[in-house]
Amino acid sequence: MSPRNALVAIAVVAAALGTTALASAADGGAADASVADAGTFTYDPPGQLVPDSGKGRVDMNVYAPGMRFPIESGPAFANSQVWGHGGNEGTGGQCDKENFSYPWHDNYCETRDWDMPMCPGGHGHQGQDIRAASCKPGVHATVAVADGTITSVGSYSVYLTTADGTRFDYLHMQDVAVKEGQQVKRGDPMGKVSNQFGGSATTVHLHFNIRQNVAGVGSVYVPGYLSLVKSYETLQGLDLPDAAPPPVAPPPAAPPTVQAAPVTTAPEPAPAADDGGCAATGSSPPPASFGAVLALAALAMAFARRQKRRAR
Ligand SMILES: [Zn+2]
Repeated sequence: MSPRNALVAIAVVAAALGTTALASAADGGAADASVADAGTFTYDPPGQLVPDSGKGRVDMNVYAPGMRFPIESGPAFANSQVWGHGGNEGTGGQCDKENFSYPWHDNYCETRDWDMPMCPGGHGHQGQDIRAASCKPGVHATVAVADGTITSVGSYSVYLTTADGTRFDYLHMQDVAVKEGQQVKRGDPMGKVSNQFGGSATTVHLHFNIRQNVAGVGSVYVPGYLSLVKSYETLQGLDLPDAAPPPVAPPPAAPPTVQAAPVTTAPEPAPAADDGGCAATGSSPPPASFGAVLALAALAMAFARRQKRRAR
């Protein structure tokens, strides 16, 4: 594909992506929502979309582990544009504080016409929409999520491809800071979060895709939500070791069962098998009556010996 055709293709794709995502003109110049009180980061689980916005894919796989978050600094808010405030299916304006609050919402499989083999309905949105810390365009920088090569640049979109073939797409930017063929390092500037849409405007956000070759499926847009969650936790310093769930320690082994007196030649109960302790409940000590029988037998033998001595 020639560079010009590639640009046309990107423009067509991007235009189709946003056919229902046009921002209302009324809120285009609204003041920034305050994000000072964004609070503790929380996120809805993968596959849980905004109600009535489609059927999501429940997928706990982190497709791009270790990637950097694509916006330079937080807070940031992954959520729906079309079904959020200011979207065609939402109420209010795009700068409403509800759009700049947690929890995050997955919108990878949100209703669109795109063929999406990994979405339950076979169609979906391809990527994740992310709002930056405010709704002001041209302020919040986007950055390379990994080392790689810029493989396509449109008027507001950039594709970054890494050595393993993963492609990361950034859409709706202004002030695009890279050129096709350029090598970039993780964290290098890519552009600014904006509402660019090739003439018309969308809401101010970054649309972010991850495209990979999936065994049995082919080269597809993969769910990027959890990769974004992980990279955002790193960005915000929320992934410290003590924040991780503690490793599951095996339960302590059961102490060997101490058999009650009398001491006999009866076999000791078997020690608990070394399989995590689960066998402890299966190696029960001999029943109490067994010990009693032994004790009685010992008494009987002693009695018999005494009788023998007496008989002598
Ligand atoms: Zn989008």
